[in-house]
Amino acid sequence: MTCAIVWFRQDLRLADNPAWWEACRSCEQVIPVFIDDPTPTTVSCLGAASRVWLHHSLLNLDKALQSQASRLILRQGQALAVLKTLIQETGATHLFWNRCYDPASLERDKLIKAALKEELSVQSFNASLLREPWQVLKSDGQPYKVYTPFWKALVKTGITQELLPAPVSIPRPAQWPPSLGITDLQLLPKIAWDQVMMQAWEVGELAAFKKLHNFLETSVTHYKTARDQPAVLGTSRLSPHLHFGEIGPRQITFFAQQYLAEHPESSAGVEHFLQEIAWREFAWYLLYHFPQTVTEPLDQRFKNFSWEQNFDTQLQRWQQGQTGIPIIDAGMRELWQTGWMHNRVRMIVASLLTKNLLIPWQLGEAWFRDTLVDADLANNVLGWQWVAGCGADAAPYFRIFNPILQGEKFDPQGEYVRRWVPELAKRAANEIHHPRVLGDGWNYPLPITDLALSRQAALERYARIKV
Ligand SMILES: Cc1cc2nc3c(=O)[nH]c(=O)nc-3n(C[C@H](O)[C@H](O)[C@H](O)COP(=O)(O)OP(=O)(O)OC[C@H]3O[C@@H](n4cnc5c(N)ncnc54)[C@H](O)[C@@H]3O)c2cc1C
Repeated sequence: MTCAIVWFRQDLRLADNPAWWEACRSCEQVIPVFIDDPTPTTVSCLGAASRVWLHHSLLNLDKALQSQASRLILRQGQALAVLKTLIQETGATHLFWNRCYDPASLERDKLIKAALKEELSVQSFNASLLREPWQVLKSDGQPYKVYTPFWKALVKTGITQELLPAPVSIPRPAQWPPSLGITDLQLLPKIAWDQVMMQAWEVGELAAFKKLHNFLETSVTHYKTARDQPAVLGTSRLSPHLHFGEIGPRQITFFAQQYLAEHPESSAGVEHFLQEIAWREFAWYLLYHFPQTVTEPLDQRFKNFSWEQNFDTQLQRWQQGQTGIPIIDAGMRELWQTGWMHNRVRMIVASLLTKNLLIPWQLGEAWFRDTLVDADLANNVLGWQWVAGCGADAAPYFRIFNPILQGEKFDPQGEYVRRWVPELAKRAANEIHHPRVLGDGWNYPLPITDLALSRQAALERYARIKV
């Protein structure tokens, strides 16, 4: 009798899930398992907002399994020990999982494979990337560090691939091993701040699938321009679903190409959308090849960069959306209330923190990691290093976004600012992006910094390391 344990991690879906497919296809009994593993930086060591998402996503996966007379077994503890216990309890002959590509998971999985391969068959698969990071290399065998040639090389490999369906029947064990309840994992906060945040979201595989198709039908055609306007619903908002693997990039690419075949007039939008999916791919690719970049700048010259030392108050004002710079505060409050922030605004708030305020990018990355529902090690590190100017294919050091001009350009009517900074709701469009001046009477803080002076100071500091 063959019995498989399928270890779900960041692949919380049943369709186009190669580990799940292979287990259901090849084994007589299948036990789906999620392990809340406290090892640092593995999936369970998530920020507070991501833990909330995970709670709902696990419930959702369990519901989908229950509808096919299966169920999700929840366990807590160090992954290898938990798996060993489960193997003993169930007599499992096979272990399947989909690969995670962050350095800590890769290390852990290697040890687990080595420790268990004498006991049972262990197989891992790719469910979260279009191509394995080691499959796309330059002609000299080195990894790409620049996006455009990476994208071209990726396209050459043929990014549209056949999808695996969700298995129609799920083999069950004769007896289920015991499981914790979802509340035992304590993923939800003690003070229920999550309820407001989750009003903005529907979680799970089905929701992700609906969201993709709705985005293709209503928004992808205008994506190229609308993606830069934070007041507009111009992007897919698939990022948390992608992070938790409720949908995979192969599915997105497949359905986007299918839509394109039927709507050739949407080619510019679809192409641009696929390029953003490839930025995610590039982020994971870089993290795989340069694992030190989780905490260190890819550009080594930045190791000696002299960041500010005393910044607690300024960091706190930035976190709380009290900088007195309207578009920044709107973004930071959108993040706090919904667990998400528009990409254009992520760039503007990150530029203010790392360039005007000269606060180390790692502190911004950490705040995002705790507060974003889509917090994703690779994308977050890439985003922060890109803006700070120390990553791969990064923004040049002299690109210091002016948040007033950015606001006027991308939120010309001030709708975005009005939505998130109610103190400014009555301001006219032509003044809403400007910080208040002394004595103008608005119930809104004075700006955290003089944008022109701090820009100049940053340029001088950057020049010292000759970027
Ligand atoms: C400082 C900073 C931090 C960021 N942190 C994260 C993070 O923790 N998690 C995260 O998923 N994204 C992060 N991003 C990238 C980007 O902002 C989000 O992926 C995007 O806003 C998600 O919204 P969406 O799903 O509507 O994107 P869409 O525009 O619909 O794009 C579709 C998908 O492509 C990927 N993508 C889009 N833009 C980027 C990008 N610039 N870099 C990498 N992948 C991208 C995402 O997976 C996204 O879901 C960060 C960007 C910056 C500048």
